[in-house]
This record gives sequence, C-alpha cells and structure tokens, in this order.
Amino acid sequence: MIQFKQVNKHYGQFHVLKDINLQIEEGEVVVIIGPSGSGKSTLLRCINRLETISGGELIVNGVPLHDKKVDINKFRRDIGMVFQHFNLYPHKRVVDNITLAPTKVLGVSKEEARQTAVGYLEKVGIADKAQSYPSQLSGGQQQRVAIARGLAMKPKIMLFDEPTSALDPETIGEVLDVMRSLAHEGMTMVIVTHEMGFAREVADRVIFMDQGQILEDSTPAEFFAKPREERAQVFLSRLI
Ligand code: ADP
Ligand code: MG
Repeated sequence: MIQFKQVNKHYGQFHVLKDINLQIEEGEVVVIIGPSGSGKSTLLRCINRLETISGGELIVNGVPLHDKKVDINKFRRDIGMVFQHFNLYPHKRVVDNITLAPTKVLGVSKEEARQTAVGYLEKVGIADKAQSYPSQLSGGQQQRVAIARGLAMKPKIMLFDEPTSALDPETIGEVLDVMRSLAHEGMTMVIVTHEMGFAREVADRVIFMDQGQILEDSTPAEFFAKPREERAQVFLSRLI
C-alpha cells in the first residue's frame, strides 16, 4: 500500500529525510515515534503529497508520487489525514464539516452525504452533536469529528499526526478508542504518536526515527522489550 524506496527530502540545505526505505501493507497499523524534529511529520506528509520528495521513489496506493504527472487531487481522495489541531471549519456545523468534501469532491448528493455523515458520527459516538458548531465541542469530540470527516471520503489509508497531543488528558482515551476500533476493522493506518500504551497494544509495527533516519522497524513486543538502538533506548527511558 505504501512503499518508500531510498527516499530523501531536503528543505533547502536541510536534509530532513535520509535514505528512507519502508514498506507498509494493506491493513497494517504502523506507529512512528521519535524525538521532536526527527522528521516524523514530514514523512507522514510525503505519503499524501503535502510534501514532495527530493529523491528516490514513493508509491502509495499504486500511484508513483515521484512522477510529476500524477493527478494529486484524485490521489488524495483515498488518503485521510487527521492533524493535532483538528482543522475543522469553525463556521460550519459538525454535519456540514463532514458532508463538504463528499458533496464537492465526490459529487455525492446532499441527502446521501448527510446520511453517511450521521452514520460516521454514530460510529465515533457523537451523533447527538451533528448540529453543533466545533467550538461547542470538547477537544476529544472535535477530534472525533475530524476522524469522521476523514472516513466519510471512504479512504484506503488514514494518516494521524499526533492526534491526541493537543487534548486534555481525560479526552485522549475516547479518541484512541475510535482509532483502536478502526485498526481492528482493517484500516491501513500510519500514526505519529507519543501514546506508548496505544502503540504497544494496537500497532503491528513500531518505527523509531531520529535525525531524519529510520533507526528501528520492529514489532511492539520487540521494540518495547529492548530497542536495538541506543538512541531509541534513551528516547524510551525519558518517556517513562
Ligand atoms: P517531527 O514531526 O518529528 O517533529 P518535522 O518533520 O516536523 O519533525 O520536522 C523535521 C525537521 O524539519 C525540523 O528540524 C523542522 O524544523 C524542519 N522543517 C519542518 N518543516 C519545514 C519546512 N517547511 N521548511 C524548513 N524546515 C522544516
Ligand atoms: Mg511532527
């Protein structure tokens, strides 16, 4: 589903991703961890072409993203992304946040989009908030709306960039619960998070990044028992 082959990326002179080789299969749940500034968000943003790579090959959902000719708008419909700061439209009701892309981009009828939206709001446990505005919701509820909005496009891959980092501690669990059930349904997911309990329990693989490189790519059992790399050991010991 996702294949990085010898991918490099520079921001001007700065070498942010170094020789990335990574393969993610359909239905896999991969958690990316590592210190701030190590390139986690950049790697994630390359997957939906929010960033372009400077060298190597990146194939996502069968589309060669290193090829300048690809139709990016069509490609992006299949990739959902959830950000740390929700990025909901503040002046639109919850239900309208979710129906916007399916009606405008996919050409789904308003009524069908509304029914789909309500279905996904039920799935994330907040059907009663359909007519609210984002500012009337808690952080955890807003993030669940953002997930429902992503799912309404029926994506093949969901990307999460620190989805719980901006939340109050008491609402983190409700967002992780939604992500856990998506994982169990077989969604292909790539998740940047500092929630180590979630990574241990839900991830098929844990990737540890530092200074633009992938230093570890292992199962959570292996990784948390004893990471091979010293930098990963130091990183984990600081979290605990
Ligand atoms: P992480 O998500 O692991 O914290 P990022 O991918 O956001 O790391 O950033 C990696 C490095 O690239 C950081 O040093 C950051 O300052 C730099 N960086 C990120 N985005 C840009 C950009 N648009 N232009 C220049 N440098 C950037
Ligand atoms: Mg980041």
